[in-house]
Amino acid sequence: MKKKSGQDKNITDKWRPATQAIRGGTYRTEFGETSEALFLTSGYSYDCAEDAAARFMGEQDGMTYSRLQNPTVQMLEERIALLDGAEACRATASGMAAMTAALLCQLQAGDHVVASRALFGSCRWLTDTLLPKFGIETTVIDGRDIDAWAQASKPNTKVYFFETPANPTMDIIDVRAVCDMARERGITSVVDNAFATAALQKPIAMGADVVAYSATKMMDGQGRVLAGAICASEAFINDILLPFHRNTGPTLSAFNAWVVLKGLETLDLRIKKQSENALQVAQFLESRIERVSYPGLESHPQHQLAMQQMEAAGPIFSIYLGGGRERAHGMLNALNIIDICNNIGDSKSLMTHPSSTTHYGMGEEARLEVGITEDMLRINVGLEDPLDIIDDLDGALRAVGL
Ligand SMILES: *Cc1c(COP(=O)(O)O)cnc(C)c1O
Repeated sequence: MKKKSGQDKNITDKWRPATQAIRGGTYRTEFGETSEALFLTSGYSYDCAEDAAARFMGEQDGMTYSRLQNPTVQMLEERIALLDGAEACRATASGMAAMTAALLCQLQAGDHVVASRALFGSCRWLTDTLLPKFGIETTVIDGRDIDAWAQASKPNTKVYFFETPANPTMDIIDVRAVCDMARERGITSVVDNAFATAALQKPIAMGADVVAYSATKMMDGQGRVLAGAICASEAFINDILLPFHRNTGPTLSAFNAWVVLKGLETLDLRIKKQSENALQVAQFLESRIERVSYPGLESHPQHQLAMQQMEAAGPIFSIYLGGGRERAHGMLNALNIIDICNNIGDSKSLMTHPSSTTHYGMGEEARLEVGITEDMLRINVGLEDPLDIIDDLDGALRAVGL
């Protein structure tokens, strides 16, 4: 397998994102296949015992075991790094494997983490339950409030952790301001960029140290596989993350890497079209219900900031129907096209009730603190004709008296 010619970094770095997402990180075997080769192998053989020894000593290039390296996974890692403008990337088995590894690989007992309180439910479990169990103290704050980051910081603060837009409140955090503040204090910023992806938002260019992904969402984009990725400097990936990743094994399977490679080919197209569809659907909903929280709408309190740091607002947003759980569940049950599903980033439109599903485990108090109320529904707008999605929503709203 050889890197495709014309793929020197000084050339590929200049490509526009749509080109990078299709062409980046391409290696070809002697057959010259156009579609990336899928290497379903756990091990690699050596011509002689001395070669095996040399590879384990790091004195010879080549792969040794698929927990550590795999050609298909490597293609995905190079492509994601290129898209992110990062020096290096390591793929993981899921988004949560990425978040857990990105945090645990650099933390130890006695360290302190400041995190935005509006996080994906399992990420809140990491900050509230897992890290404290190992003697790592965490403080959760309203990440929109820049001063709150400074106030929560201590001499032993090692990491700032946040996502923007936040799942499911759609809070926007000023990436540049928070990452600058981290850098001034020698703190590592870790940004969960699952919602926007590098196609819409580039945290590294805004000063982030580590960018972590659930590639299950927009990158696969068709609801097929779980995957994740961590992007950072070569020093972070090689010296801090790799020892943790190689020895604990949250490795991405080659098959799933191949599926995400195929997904990335259409990422730019899908995310822009889904953002357009989402805006149209959000505008319709805004005319009908209590509140719509979509950063692409002028009514979103951080619309300006969102449009400064994102190219488009993405396919996901939340709506508030007024009333309680009964009405929210009633609306879901009256849908015909849109699936009741807690996944996002799919080309199919999906809707969920966060307080009884994705954010159930967070507990009522924490939910209400971030604004996840019983009348809230989250929608992922897909690639169907938006007028059919609007008709479906219209019918479901009528069914619950709205
Ligand atoms: C889905 C999601 C995750 C977790 O990713 P998985 O691939 O489901 O493990 C983490 N962060 C955010 C913001 C997500 O939306």
